[in-house]
Amino acid sequence: MIPHAFLQDLLNRVDIVDVVGKYVQLKKGGANFMGLCPFHNEKSPSFTVSPTKQFYHCFGCGAHGTAIGFLMEHAGLSFPEAVGDLAQSVGLTVPQEPSPARGGYGGERGGSGSDRYASAPVDGKVVAALSDLMQTACDYYRKALRGAPQAIEYLKKRGLTGEVAARFGLGFAPDGWQNLEAVFPDYRNDALVEAGLVILSEKLDAQGQARRYDRFRERIMFPIRNVKGQVIGFGGRVLDGGEPKYLNSPETPLFSKGSELYGLFEARLAIREAHSVLVVEGYMDVVALAQLGFPNAVATLGTACTPIHVQKLLRQTDTVIFSFDGDSAGRRAARRALDACLPHAADNRTIRFLFLPQEHDPDSFIREFGKEAFSEQIARALPLSQFMLNEVLAGKELDTPEGRARALFDAKPLLQALPANALRAQIMHMFADRLDVPFEEVAALCNVDTRIAAPARTAPARKDRRRVTGIEERALRNLVMYPRIVSVLDEESEESLFNQSHHGELFAEVATHARALGEGAEFRHLSDLLRNGANAATFEEIFREILDYDENARDLLLPDAQDAAAAEQQQERERIAAEELQAAILKIRYDACSERLERLSRQSKLTPDEIEQFAELNRQRADMKRQLGL
Ligand SMILES: [Zn+2]
Repeated sequence: MIPHAFLQDLLNRVDIVDVVGKYVQLKKGGANFMGLCPFHNEKSPSFTVSPTKQFYHCFGCGAHGTAIGFLMEHAGLSFPEAVGDLAQSVGLTVPQEPSPARGGYGGERGGSGSDRYASAPVDGKVVAALSDLMQTACDYYRKALRGAPQAIEYLKKRGLTGEVAARFGLGFAPDGWQNLEAVFPDYRNDALVEAGLVILSEKLDAQGQARRYDRFRERIMFPIRNVKGQVIGFGGRVLDGGEPKYLNSPETPLFSKGSELYGLFEARLAIREAHSVLVVEGYMDVVALAQLGFPNAVATLGTACTPIHVQKLLRQTDTVIFSFDGDSAGRRAARRALDACLPHAADNRTIRFLFLPQEHDPDSFIREFGKEAFSEQIARALPLSQFMLNEVLAGKELDTPEGRARALFDAKPLLQALPANALRAQIMHMFADRLDVPFEEVAALCNVDTRIAAPARTAPARKDRRRVTGIEERALRNLVMYPRIVSVLDEESEESLFNQSHHGELFAEVATHARALGEGAEFRHLSDLLRNGANAATFEEIFREILDYDENARDLLLPDAQDAAAAEQQQERERIAAEELQAAILKIRYDACSERLERLSRQSKLTPDEIEQFAELNRQRADMKRQLGL
């Protein structure tokens, strides 16, 4: 876990104008810088970067954050990656603290399952040197394509225009064993082997040294770029008959199959515009789809979809549609993708699975049936819940006890992998219906905590709940906007807020960060941190609600720190926010008290103890009622 103090120190040292300026052309406008928003399409700039606040905000689409947030949102880096990148740029080393049991934010979400994909820390200098080699090779392959009529002919036959080929940087590795010898000054440089461009043979040459030769020969070359646009690997496809049909770069310090997606860099803007990403099986599919009017496609690289892939995609959009070829390999790949998605299935996300008819990939499907038909397939793709149900029930004799038991047995790991949310509860209800067993039995047999699974946990009557939620949500928003007000909470208030409110987990997460940030706590720091936690999706909603008011955006993000009047206004707002928070806590206690009274009054008999308790609660309730002015 990365200490909060380090994050604040880091953000004080980097200049967000430089960080953003690398990707967006910024013009000075008053105290701030303005530019065209990289997160949505616009003709006049509404993207604002504040050097005094070290924060960016788009008044058009609501994108916002610090330099860390920008690298996460724009370059698609994870939180630790973004922090590492920035630290390196100012010559700092990221310190680590042991993670606390809860509220940690230093690592990836998703538990130990995804740990094995996490890349080991690599030396920045080595990476930069390898990255240069890859770019040089890429330039060479691209140039070689121009002189390779048979390769151009192949691409034309696949319907690709020169424009699309150029957008994806397609190239050609000609026939021959040591073409790269003419490209690099020192072919015996071991970095070429480390970058995966050259293979070291066990055979010796005339000088008694290990023979070396180019990895890619006579192949169409697809450069694989990371989210920053750097070439980190290649995919090579044979022109005809040869084997293997597809050859990828090996795992290198730059390139890890389990975490990279082909085409993500090229598709980023299209994904934001379409509000969805299409995940296909191969890089030829990605390029062909871009040509055919579906520029929001990406592909895994000859590997099953991992939780890291899913997480990377969900940083770009809330809707992920997997498209699989209609063969048995496609089915298997779909199942792996389902497993990778389960931990990320939040209520406000859409994950769907599209199965093409036998013998078809997206390219061939569109060519035979047309774009419209493919769009229709996308729209009709199976929701995650339905696919999961199909997977578990397939091939079971549900009219026998054995068949139903087997289905429950198979469902257990899948249900357990889902986060505790409304979707999981819904899926459990679907199972209960199909297997004709009570919901509680599904929950018990699958070891799923129903107190969380059933949405009606401690919820009071519906009409009541809506009122409570209003004041609670406002308090939560206030705490997110003005995290310093956490100082008004004493132990007892926190206890009510965390354990008696309907958003206890969210309150606890915000309060933990706010306390750790201390006096300097501000919305901008907090928003980056919350974005990296388990409830990121919920908090994004809250950020949107806050920043939907331009007035809020200006107050929180853009005022000049030197402006005394603005500072005073800010203090006044914080004071009001703190009062509202305390009122909300009082209301939460009042509701909890009323609920207990009601429960007691419903009992037919009360013990002497309970009678005393009843009286005490009644007194407390009257007291709180007066304070609340009810
Ligand atoms: Zn925008």
